[in-house]
Amino acid sequence: MLSAAHHSTAQQVDVVIIGAGIAGLSAARHLTSSGVKVSVLEAAPRVGGRMATDEVDGFRLDRGGQLLTTSYPELLRTPGLDGVGLRKFSPGVLVHSDGRNYRTGAVGSARSALTVARALASAPRPPLGGAVDQARLGAALGRLAATPTRRLLARPERTALEALSARGLPARTVNAFVRPLLSALLCDPGLGTSSRCADLALHAFARGRMFVMAGGAAALPELLARTLPEGTVQTDVCVTDASISGVTTKEHGEIGCRALVLATGARAAAELLPGLRVPDFHPRTVVHHTAPEPPMNEPALLLDADGGGPVAYTAVMSAVDPSRAPAGRTLISSTLLGTPPPADGLDRSVRAHLAKLYGTPTDDWELLAVHHDPEAVPAMPPPHDPRRPVRLLSGLYVCGDHRDTSTVQGALFSGRRAAHAILRDLGVRPEYETVSLPAVA
Ligand SMILES: Cc1cc2nc3c(=O)[nH]c(=O)nc-3n(C[C@H](O)[C@H](O)[C@H](O)COP(=O)(O)OP(=O)(O)OC[C@H]3O[C@@H](n4cnc5c(N)ncnc54)[C@H](O)[C@@H]3O)c2cc1C
Repeated sequence: MLSAAHHSTAQQVDVVIIGAGIAGLSAARHLTSSGVKVSVLEAAPRVGGRMATDEVDGFRLDRGGQLLTTSYPELLRTPGLDGVGLRKFSPGVLVHSDGRNYRTGAVGSARSALTVARALASAPRPPLGGAVDQARLGAALGRLAATPTRRLLARPERTALEALSARGLPARTVNAFVRPLLSALLCDPGLGTSSRCADLALHAFARGRMFVMAGGAAALPELLARTLPEGTVQTDVCVTDASISGVTTKEHGEIGCRALVLATGARAAAELLPGLRVPDFHPRTVVHHTAPEPPMNEPALLLDADGGGPVAYTAVMSAVDPSRAPAGRTLISSTLLGTPPPADGLDRSVRAHLAKLYGTPTDDWELLAVHHDPEAVPAMPPPHDPRRPVRLLSGLYVCGDHRDTSTVQGALFSGRRAAHAILRDLGVRPEYETVSLPAVA
């Protein structure tokens, strides 16, 4: 909990950052590149927070299964990302609707969004209505892709569900494509999220390609940590008490600082600094299976629009990123939104649903792992401020996805905003940036 106590300690740095998730690491990167001495204290034995990957029998299993897009500007600024490799899904998505799988075509720019309509119109039995409906969908996505984010954020705000029914798209198009896609992108099956955040998510989808990090989600925070001077991050250090002038840790006593950043995630931040808002959260469950044969060879994201089981979307991850499975083995990763089925029947109901989605028996599939996170992402109901203040007062800052949008992009950007505010308060000219930050990246 935040105390007013003054820490006079042997250890002293310019800035202490509590938490080595991607927000804290992003702040640390921007501060250290401007010559500020930083100490990042992380309670867990590894960096990354919610971007975690476990190694199990040679499989690399994400706990979160984050879907990233090439149109997240903050993500693409990460140095060395290209070298690590982005493993892209095939363009667009596959949608399981009326018991069949349909490709929604390539989406990568305003113009190519129109190919969604063409691809759907040429499907043997288009799931989303006739050619006129397809053209409307393509035009809507194309317009969204071409709209600047500041204009999207100036639109009237309501829930995503309310906004969808007012967009002039046929109910069938909404139910068979837009709704399952948005639910997956927002981690929100009820679509109670702010319509502005929903527009940002669709905008990012329509402008970019979805991908995962080669080797697992943990590769991103590991990459960020490698950009920091040696010794900047200390893992296995839990902060129990904090003030503007320093922190108390379980393991190493007190560390003094000129500025403090809480980069812990919303709930832990409110424990250290009572009064900080704790949002509601959306749960998410990721289930990993291996199968004797891949049920599909394509590196595609398969969305369920029929609601015929607990799985919201699934992919043959060993096809998307072969480094996630031992040679010749298959990894299928599936995501459930909301409250999952009871643990004792979960694998059975997930495999029954996957049998429908992939159109193949799954009796001989083997469960590798289940990860449930009841607080996977902070909810963003309207009104949602996607640029909540990161500077509470001079010397005290807070960052993380709960100060921005509940995404990898939002977490990274909040870290940069916090670093920017600290540099201004310390009177240091940013090495990396001399212009004002945009309202939303
Ligand atoms: C299951 C799941 C699926 C997701 N899917 C997507 C997706 O598809 N697309 C997308 O863009 N985003 C997705 N996200 C969200 C994204 O992962 C998060 O927004 C982002 O990782 C949050 O980063 P952060 O740094 O703000 O917080 P965190 O990752 O939570 O980092 C906070 C860190 O602070 C540490 N900490 C806490 N308390 C203390 C203390 N007292 N002392 C020291 N350290 C402390 C924690 O151990 C942790 O490492 C998903 C998240 C989950 C969980």
